[in-house]
Amino acid sequence: MNMRTHQLRCIGTGARISPDQAPSDFRDPETRELYEIEYPWSETAETNGEPRNLPNGAALRHLWAERRDSTLAIDQSGVWRYRELLPILQDDTHAVTLREGNTPLYDLPRCADNLGLDFLLAKHQGMNPTGSFKDTGMTAALSVAAERGFQWVACASTGNTSAAMAAYAARAGLRSIVFIPEGKIAWGKLSQSLDYGALTIQLKTDFDGCVRILAELVKRHPIYLLNSVNPYRLEGQKTPAIEMVEQLDWQIPDHVIVPGGNLANGSALGKGFGEMKHLGLIDRVPKISVIQAQGANPLFQWFTNDHAELDPVVADTRATAIRIGNPASWRKAARIIEQTNGWCEQVSESEIALAKAQIGAEGIGCEPASAVTLAGLKKLVKMGHVQKGERAVLLLTGHTLKDPEYTIDFHRGELAQDLPEAANYRRPPLTLEADPDVVLRTLDAEIKKAQTV
Ligand SMILES: *Cc1c(COP(=O)(O)O)cnc(C)c1O
Repeated sequence: MNMRTHQLRCIGTGARISPDQAPSDFRDPETRELYEIEYPWSETAETNGEPRNLPNGAALRHLWAERRDSTLAIDQSGVWRYRELLPILQDDTHAVTLREGNTPLYDLPRCADNLGLDFLLAKHQGMNPTGSFKDTGMTAALSVAAERGFQWVACASTGNTSAAMAAYAARAGLRSIVFIPEGKIAWGKLSQSLDYGALTIQLKTDFDGCVRILAELVKRHPIYLLNSVNPYRLEGQKTPAIEMVEQLDWQIPDHVIVPGGNLANGSALGKGFGEMKHLGLIDRVPKISVIQAQGANPLFQWFTNDHAELDPVVADTRATAIRIGNPASWRKAARIIEQTNGWCEQVSESEIALAKAQIGAEGIGCEPASAVTLAGLKKLVKMGHVQKGERAVLLLTGHTLKDPEYTIDFHRGELAQDLPEAANYRRPPLTLEADPDVVLRTLDAEIKKAQTV
């Protein structure tokens, strides 16, 4: 069997289609369920009694490590370096790459201390080329679009998907169309999509409304859909799981904690860990927990109320990246939480703001949606789901410069007013006379203040 053949498998019915049969909206026409990419070596693949030809785990580890010294673009990419686990292109030289991935795994000693944990790690996906984890998925799916000869690509976005898509489309010489909810996008993100030359359309609706319009559009025009219903996005987004374990010298964390918006990211990481286990690269998988903002919490409601189906909500949160009420990948994420024994939690707007400041105070920073991970971890620790000696990794999904307005609002005292602890983190800018005595007096007062706390 050709190692490159892959299929799209419907997550609802298990029915398989070939890549060129994929519907333009990436949903099964009858059940409306999503697809996932299946390889001949996947756990779900049918073997018809033939021996399963699994890639060799030990050889892969060696190969991937060796590629770190390579000068080839696809080897320098922290996604395509692992291309044996995502053989989705006919020819790997077609990969459109900005050297995504390769993101740092930081420790957060003060946050760990606060929580009574021995250690705490953060995989900072905001350190990708356009400042969010979306790059890891976009390099994969956009490369597929380019290889198949599409001229136009499109997405509905709360901001980061559009930034990533616009950048990769520009690299590949494709045209891109972005649909964003009017007025509900952080400036950093909107400016990126303009900078990279996308046709940017602000629709007078929310994210879920943008998704509906776009679904109509791709049915009528040969435009390639790059929302995370596109299963190739998840193939790229699973690679941070591999990179993380590599960075831990192949030790497996106990918990991986991700923000939940459209719910593709947690699903993708789960797929990555699952495939590594299946191939013998690791011997167990971490618990994967998803944290949502209280104002955009449909998965949390599903999780706590034990519903069979997910009830969409009208989403509202200042963490714009996760302001999604009807998440497309909820079934995939639900399956990963169940399979890995993870949890789903919700956190308030104030809890998000405080957690973001605490991550900033470590010299790291992130955008508000990423900070739900730390806020959620506090709850998981309190409930005993995460224990003192266990190793947890927070997935920081976006860069702090994506949404500077939010940060400034926090330091000016407009966020988390109900949490006294937040005062310890506020550092509003001071305006002083340009007089050395005035400055020195202020500095003295600041030094005294610092000594008393
Ligand atoms: C997209 C995004 C999320 C949510 O990821 P999903 O896959 O939609 O759940 C979280 N944080 C940031 C910064 C994002 O850009």
